[in-house]
Amino acid sequence: MDTEFADVIGHDVTSITCLCGNTVSKEGLIQANSQGVPVYAGANTPVPAGLAAWPDDEDLYTLCPSCGRVYHDTVIEETETAPVAFQVDVAAGPIAEAIRVHWDLST
Ligand SMILES: [Zn+2]
Repeated sequence: MDTEFADVIGHDVTSITCLCGNTVSKEGLIQANSQGVPVYAGANTPVPAGLAAWPDDEDLYTLCPSCGRVYHDTVIEETETAPVAFQVDVAAGPIAEAIRVHWDLST
């Protein structure tokens, strides 16, 4: 399968327009780990149940919570393009739950 690319402005991961049409200012984009699990960016410990810890190597991905496409921040920063790294199930399962926890914390 050919790699899909989202629109991105320069190397700014927050400027992604996902292939599904979602952006930061629509449904939002979530920082995730290499499995596509939303990471916890706050200062509290322990990490809230359901979220992943901030990766020690700072290797972050950007998850579209609308369609589950995941983009690799390092690739965007280095190439100024946003190929889809992989896609996760955001309708059910642990990632859907993590997305819910993420939004609960940020409201
Ligand atoms: Zn999307």
